Amino acid sequence: MELWQEMIRQSIHSAEDLVKKFNLKQENAERLEVFFQSRINPYYLSLIRYPGDPIWLQCVPDERELEDVDSPDDPLKEDEMSPVPNITHRYPDRVLFLVTAQCGIYCRFCTRKRKVGDSRKISMKYLESAFKYLEQHTEINDVILSGGDPLMLTDAMLEKIIKRLRSMNHIQVIRLGTRMPVVLPQRITESLVNMLKKYHPIFVNTHFNHPREITEESTKAINMLADAGCPIGNQTVLMKGVNDNPEVMKELMKKLISIRVKPYYLYMLDKIKGGEHFKTSIAKGLEIMDKLRGHISGLAVPHFVIDAPGGGGKIPLLPNYVIYHDENKIILRNYKYNLFEYPDISDNIKPIIDNKLYLRKTKNRKSKKTEKVYIGKTRSDN
Ligand SMILES: *Cc1c(COP(=O)(O)O)cnc(C)c1O
Ligand code: SF4
Repeated sequence: MELWQEMIRQSIHSAEDLVKKFNLKQENAERLEVFFQSRINPYYLSLIRYPGDPIWLQCVPDERELEDVDSPDDPLKEDEMSPVPNITHRYPDRVLFLVTAQCGIYCRFCTRKRKVGDSRKISMKYLESAFKYLEQHTEINDVILSGGDPLMLTDAMLEKIIKRLRSMNHIQVIRLGTRMPVVLPQRITESLVNMLKKYHPIFVNTHFNHPREITEESTKAINMLADAGCPIGNQTVLMKGVNDNPEVMKELMKKLISIRVKPYYLYMLDKIKGGEHFKTSIAKGLEIMDKLRGHISGLAVPHFVIDAPGGGGKIPLLPNYVIYHDENKIILRNYKYNLFEYPDISDNIKPIIDNKLYLRKTKNRKSKKTEKVYIGKTRSDN
């Protein structure tokens, strides 16, 4: 058994462990175990400095999870957009391919907790039907291996999957969506990176949420992946008590580029069951973006997105930089809130941001009032 597998085995996972280690009430520990099991491996555990700190919040089951009964368990409607088991096909040319249910830790805010940790729900027995789907759909040129965490597979199993994908000429990019460099960096071994580098382009997208996750060990893991030629991106989830602070976020993003990781997405927290206590406002996210853009290297600035409830995909949000816009000019403010005018011309192209494209005014005959009607479908209203 490899070191990282041994560390998984030494993880905290039982209700008894939770009671002993974190002072949870026995009854709640048992209920939490049923709701979403825990896994805290000794490496990630060692990063906790005090109860309730940003590391603790991400991995230690919290009694507040049990109070959030109204949030959905599949907010992004991934299962409705799943043509065959283990595949979510939402965008024209790329898919999400779930290859294992296991992870290095179980993150309490996980958006896929309805499946993660349960190997009946992301089962290897469906891999063949997923491969067939990918073979038949030649419009797909980007496959995101996810789960669970694809690096929970052995090198041999992962290589089998990647090899099969590489036998399909229409697939250009393979992405590995993995939190292992953050939560169990011991998983990144010489033999793993030597295998990966045979199948480029392999992009790695990892998931750092707090500057304290950038340690000697995680830096070493990232270096090995980068030296093997994998471009590395990062996604961060905005969470109360973890990183809902412009200074913390600035430090995280700057540290990431210093270890050759490109911040890719900053996500608004999905509306996932058991996640209400992590919720922040959209205004907080925009405030953070306002304090990143212009203030630190553009390389360190991620896209701030909401993954639309109901499966609309990722929608970017920006602080408002446009003060005024007509056919002759646009007035903008910069990162220091100074105003600038840029001359525009009229060429009969409607600006893309024109609410008239989305809103239609209709007259209500009885009340004579004007009502706004959305022309676009709002999926969340289904
Ligand atoms: C996020 C996501 C992708 C990838 O989106 P990009 O914007 O290309 O990174 C693809 N499919 C699904 C279902 C996703 O959720
Ligand atoms: S590593 Fe990813 S898939 Fe696994 S529990 Fe954490 S957020 Fe969910």
